[in-house]
Amino acid sequence: MSIMDTNSTAGEHLIPHTARIAAATAKGSARDEQSESDAARIILQLEQNHAEANAVGLGSPDLDTFHSLIVSLVAEADDPEAVIAYIAELLSDHAENKAYLPKLIQECERLGLALQLTDDPTVDLPGIRTIDGRRTVVARADEVAVAYDDVHAVGRCLTCSGELDGTALLYFPANALLSFRAVQDMTGADVKICRTCVEASGIPLTTAQRGPEWMLR
Ligand SMILES: [Zn+2]
Repeated sequence: MSIMDTNSTAGEHLIPHTARIAAATAKGSARDEQSESDAARIILQLEQNHAEANAVGLGSPDLDTFHSLIVSLVAEADDPEAVIAYIAELLSDHAENKAYLPKLIQECERLGLALQLTDDPTVDLPGIRTIDGRRTVVARADEVAVAYDDVHAVGRCLTCSGELDGTALLYFPANALLSFRAVQDMTGADVKICRTCVEASGIPLTTAQRGPEWMLR
């Protein structure tokens, strides 16, 4: 990922992050010559990228704001290389999040859950809350990929990710450690495995997997 990938919508979402960058790169007492020449080189590159984006019709006021912000951060940083690497990483995460959003929405629809993205830093892991009477997945806007993984796992086989039917078995394999306890998904339901995967594994069923029906036979 290079800074070249800056797109016209990056600015509006990334501006909040710049407070963190600014904190991490507070100007020190003296900047050495290396930093000065790094900054000059990076700013030249940024100016070229910005001009190219405008030339191909990707220009926007947001992009202009974003561009000016990055230039000013680079211009003042003690370590311009580190700043630009950090920004490139943020952009890459941002692009990944964007790519996962439609998939997350689809998975929420599959489960009949609403979705609410938040910038609240106190929301750590994605979770399910009841909001306005609806079960809602609440996840951080910058952790869409994590939320997707969690929501995607619900109601699916741990091994093949296929959707489970009534024949699914608890994921409680015979070769598990004694201390093993069935793990749960984000809804609190026990993680399960489909019958095809159990049979393919060749591992005999445990009592927990056979369940009460078997006990009654
Ligand atoms: Zn399976």
